[in-house]
Amino acid sequence: AELEALLDTRIRSIPDWPVPGVVFRDITPLLADPAGIPAVVEGIATALTAAGVHGADLVAGVEARGFILGAPLAVGLGVGFVPVRKEGKLPGDVHAESYDLEYGQATLEVQVGAVASGHRVVLVDDVLATGGTAAAAVNLLRAAGAEVLALVCLLELPALGGRERLDVPVIALRAV
Ligand code: IMP
Repeated sequence: AELEALLDTRIRSIPDWPVPGVVFRDITPLLADPAGIPAVVEGIATALTAAGVHGADLVAGVEARGFILGAPLAVGLGVGFVPVRKEGKLPGDVHAESYDLEYGQATLEVQVGAVASGHRVVLVDDVLATGGTAAAAVNLLRAAGAEVLALVCLLELPALGGRERLDVPVIALRAV
């Protein structure tokens, strides 16, 4: 109930940002609330258990809000964290994949060797929209040797069909 109230009151909808026609869901008020991140971590852990997702070895987060959520989630689950970064940020050899966004185009990268072969990874991001970002992240984690157990997100925008583009279970704390 506390999590529901936080998701209701601490996520803002910004019309026409970053481009006209897009309603941007802004989680910064949730992050600024001292109860926000702990409630999200607990809510995700509970939802993973309810979905039968057990035995994660790693959390992977998508730059940038997936980092903010993913690091405390990794602490909560008692596992390590792997960053899925935007192009050109990671040193050394990387797996890279380009994809289309709800607005624009982007490339994500994961370091070669970031995941031990067969390690079980929970992927996290703030918002699932078209699913292009998450699909690219799943492909990269698999290229790095991971088994991707699930995508977890705070908000899913079901009208954009992201879930249908993914071949991993999707756990969303809220659909809008
Ligand atoms: P998708 O690739 O279309 O599913 O878009 C999801 C990616 O874009 C995620 O990394 C989100 O952080 C970001 N994104 C898309 N829409 C929103 C939004 O309304 N609020 C916050 N992030 C968003």
